Amino acid sequence: MKELVYCIFFIGLLACGGQQEKVTNSIAEGQDFEKFKSEFIDSMWNMNPISASFQGMHDFDEKLPIPNEARSQSELNFAEVWLNKLGAFDYSQLTDYDKIDYHLIEDDLKNTFFYLNDFKSGEWNPSSYNLGGIFFQVINFQKHSIEKRLEDLSEKLNHVEAYYAQAKININRPTEVHTNLAIQQLDGSKTIFNKTLLDSLNASSKDEKFKQAFTDKVDKAIVAIDDYKNFLQVNYINKLADSATFISFRIGKDLYSKKFDAEIQSAYSANEVFEAAVEEKGDLHEKMFRLSDMLWEKYFGDVEKPGGRFDQIQMVINEVAKSHVHRDSFMTSIRQQIPELVAFVNENDLITLDTKKPLVVRETPEYMRGFTGASISTPGPYDADAETYYNVTPLDHYNPEEAESYLKEYNNYTFQILNIHEAIPGHYTQLVFSNQSHSLIKSIMGNGAMIEGWAVYAERMMLEAGYGGDQLEMGLMYYKWNLRTVCNTILDYGIQMLDYTEADAMQLLMREAFQEKSEAEGKWRRARLSQVQLCSYFSGYYEIMQLREELQEKMSEEFDLKKFHEEFLSYGSAPVKYIRKLMLRKLELSRNQLQIVLQPLP
Ligand code: ZN
Repeated sequence: MKELVYCIFFIGLLACGGQQEKVTNSIAEGQDFEKFKSEFIDSMWNMNPISASFQGMHDFDEKLPIPNEARSQSELNFAEVWLNKLGAFDYSQLTDYDKIDYHLIEDDLKNTFFYLNDFKSGEWNPSSYNLGGIFFQVINFQKHSIEKRLEDLSEKLNHVEAYYAQAKININRPTEVHTNLAIQQLDGSKTIFNKTLLDSLNASSKDEKFKQAFTDKVDKAIVAIDDYKNFLQVNYINKLADSATFISFRIGKDLYSKKFDAEIQSAYSANEVFEAAVEEKGDLHEKMFRLSDMLWEKYFGDVEKPGGRFDQIQMVINEVAKSHVHRDSFMTSIRQQIPELVAFVNENDLITLDTKKPLVVRETPEYMRGFTGASISTPGPYDADAETYYNVTPLDHYNPEEAESYLKEYNNYTFQILNIHEAIPGHYTQLVFSNQSHSLIKSIMGNGAMIEGWAVYAERMMLEAGYGGDQLEMGLMYYKWNLRTVCNTILDYGIQMLDYTEADAMQLLMREAFQEKSEAEGKWRRARLSQVQLCSYFSGYYEIMQLREELQEKMSEEFDLKKFHEEFLSYGSAPVKYIRKLMLRKLELSRNQLQIVLQPLP
């Protein structure tokens, strides 16, 4: 642990990044773990060219694996071979920093068996066969010339027909909600082929012969997509009345528990996180009730209070939510707010923001719609200079009533918290740090709960720092927003483990989480499409808050919020439980060092 001791002397002067650690790595112990990692990553991308492109690694852009039996077998073999190689290392001899990488690789490889042998979403989730995103990812990679991108895509296009023919074989009994999503997204996906790709083709310097051949391939790809869509329509959607057509969107208790462990990688079980969420819900209701009391007179004068707690909170929320932007200026308002958040973070010295990295606010591309209203698309660690997009779905498809409901949910207060979450200092800031962390493994194998947990933590931290001033409305709306992440966990667990019905979900979301109808209906849809992911927000947040409290207690006066944030993020998007181990170990080492420095006095 020599390298960590070096850092200690500089504590207080500079953030202890991983650079020194990397130099002395495990080679010193006679094991070349660095070389192993590098070979593993190369083989992994060769095996998973689609994931590679999404991570900004574009060496295999021309490949499109056909999702057949032979492919599954080679993925399983890959996992077995590399688990054996990993097992040959003496874990106890690795640095703490490498131990995290060891766990991440091991967890990832073991998950291959779970997803291919147990989870098998390729049989029941038709929306997993959506090629729009990957073709967009390749054509959008600015570091390759447009001609090179088109050559890669021309090769990739050769396999689209076989890809969809295999998809039709793989689908066994899908769920209704995933089938509907697939049909919706495939239409958006087609525009990537017949618009985005062809626009690039026309703008390129490729000769007429290439252009003609490419166009023919695009035409064939469109036919294949339409054929797949038609297959879903005729075989499933049109037979809706037949109860044997679809399987339930509930994956079952056993698979859910396993998926929770595989994806969340929490120090806690699904049940423990659920119970913590239920307790938190009670606390939030208490706080909201007090604030609604304080705001009552401002909005209702001497009108008598309704009596019930939920009714009172809901009535005040309804009034406060009337303050919102116009539907046509939703996107513009987001663009305007980003610099204000930057200024607040800087003035309050909360975390160092990298001003060189561009954040582009754009309309969510068609092929990505139907899941969330706002999201961040980030370049991977290989392509860290590429643009980061803040995707905002425009309100065009809403009728006036729906738009009003949506805007009340994203009113002038929650709208700001949304921007904190998605952009600054939430996802966008975290992902910039993650790409700068010195471990490719930690950047590539990002943990969803850590990533979402950070964004949720960022909201809380901004409010604690005084964001929103002393506006009681901001406090009330923040708790409402926070209640949403808490209820996401309760809903996800409830649907999969406690058989929540749609009525149960609506009671939870609309009555106990005070959500607008559109939001609640969207969440009910999303909760049936994904499993476990909705738990990531609260579980990551819960563990970060616990870690901060633990360090504050141990360090008391020494604790520095900005340093905590920067050190926490410097480990990349690793699970919080592993980051916690490293941060506590570093603290322990710095304490020991201090004692050695102080001891020599006679
Ligand atoms: Zn998020």
